[in-house]
Amino acid sequence: MDLSFTPEEQKFREEIRAWVKDNLPQDISHKVHNALELTREDLQRWAKILGKKGWLGYGWPTEFGGPGWTAVQKHLFEEETALAGAPRIIPFGPVMVAPVIQAFGNAEQQKRFLPGIASGEVWWSQGYSEPGSGSDLASVKTKAQLVKDGKGDHYIVNGQKTWTTLGQYGECIFCLVRTSNEGKPQTGISFLLIDMKSPGVTVRPIKLLDGSHEVNEVWFDNVEVPAENLIGEENKGWTYAKHLLSHERTNIADANRAKRELERLKRIAKREGVWEDQRFRDEIAKLEVDVIALEMLVLRVLSAATSGKNSLDIAGLLKIKGSEIQQRYSELMMLAAGPFALPLIREAMAAGWQGDFPGGHPEAAPLATTYFNMRKTTIYGGSNEVQRNIVAQTVLG
Ligand SMILES: Cc1cc2nc3c(=O)[nH]c(=O)nc-3n(C[C@H](O)[C@H](O)[C@H](O)COP(=O)(O)OP(=O)(O)OC[C@H]3O[C@@H](n4cnc5c(N)ncnc54)[C@H](O)[C@@H]3O)c2cc1C
Repeated sequence: MDLSFTPEEQKFREEIRAWVKDNLPQDISHKVHNALELTREDLQRWAKILGKKGWLGYGWPTEFGGPGWTAVQKHLFEEETALAGAPRIIPFGPVMVAPVIQAFGNAEQQKRFLPGIASGEVWWSQGYSEPGSGSDLASVKTKAQLVKDGKGDHYIVNGQKTWTTLGQYGECIFCLVRTSNEGKPQTGISFLLIDMKSPGVTVRPIKLLDGSHEVNEVWFDNVEVPAENLIGEENKGWTYAKHLLSHERTNIADANRAKRELERLKRIAKREGVWEDQRFRDEIAKLEVDVIALEMLVLRVLSAATSGKNSLDIAGLLKIKGSEIQQRYSELMMLAAGPFALPLIREAMAAGWQGDFPGGHPEAAPLATTYFNMRKTTIYGGSNEVQRNIVAQTVLG
């Protein structure tokens, strides 16, 4: 296994770094470096900047307008953007549904949906989970019934999705819907693309532990969806759903964000004086070792792919380690700031907040919110307990 970068790859890294320095708006990177709240406008502004350069779909092959980068180039791009303080790309469009449309959609669907994703114009949401269908995803009940009448073939969709991240901004949603009750639950699922502006779609907020409005319920009440929005074949949606999930889980691991947040943790620890405490430094060192190990794991996968060897199907493993690391750094930041990190002040998430925070410094104020928000990471994208089961079956044998 060769983990060193070639001179060409180093040069590529320099080019990315220079471009990001020139193009990443400073107000956005300031928010990211200080874990402040990013608005829809912030997220879409950055997405459109990347889109204009042709890099929002940075993982896409050239035939679909992507840059056709190697696995290592993609990794370097992710690392340079994360360290510079770029927001995470909202994955639902470019990272999750686009590979499914590319692999299983027809030419007309590719022409219709991919440009809006590549440019960052269209906001997508993920409609997988339902009440009672999270870990047991194959039990989804949202029903899509094919109707053939004078209006053209269309599905009538009824049911409810839940935990829909940022669904309040969604313009389109990809959904797992039930089109048959015959046979195993997996064999009656289809993958449908739905315009969220369609009559009968209702989005209702769910408040999270940190007080934020990040997730939603999405209701479908006799929603008409053109039959040409079905991806691939009816009742074969489970195959496409799994293809998407491996992209989702690898994306969650995000070793590069962990590297950036590790530096923030050190900054807070130094400012608060706990950096002098050997035992606290031990905790940071242990975390740093795990972050490096996660990065090595990612690089091993890349190295295997580059040398043509089969890499293990370790998306679940990456998800487990990455999400645990995200929780640990948020916990250590809280510990470092001590009592100053305790109040949950949502207003402190806004850039330039000048609230009353006696004795504390601005960096400590948003920590409680981040800490609470990070509880989600071991649940979403498939809970870590369930990922452990999958890793045990598919990797360990
Ligand atoms: C913040 C957030 C954002 C999300 N965003 C989205 C989104 O945008 N779109 C979307 O479709 N979904 C989304 N989800 C849903 C997410 O995928 C599910 O929450 C997750 O798959 C777990 O399902 P559940 O919540 O139904 O829990 P359950 O499946 O009810 O699980 C409850 C508990 O039981 C455990 N458990 C269940 N089965 C097993 C088993 N076989 N072995 C061991 N333990 C088990 C789980 O680990 C968990 O601890 C989001 C969730 C959160 C929290």
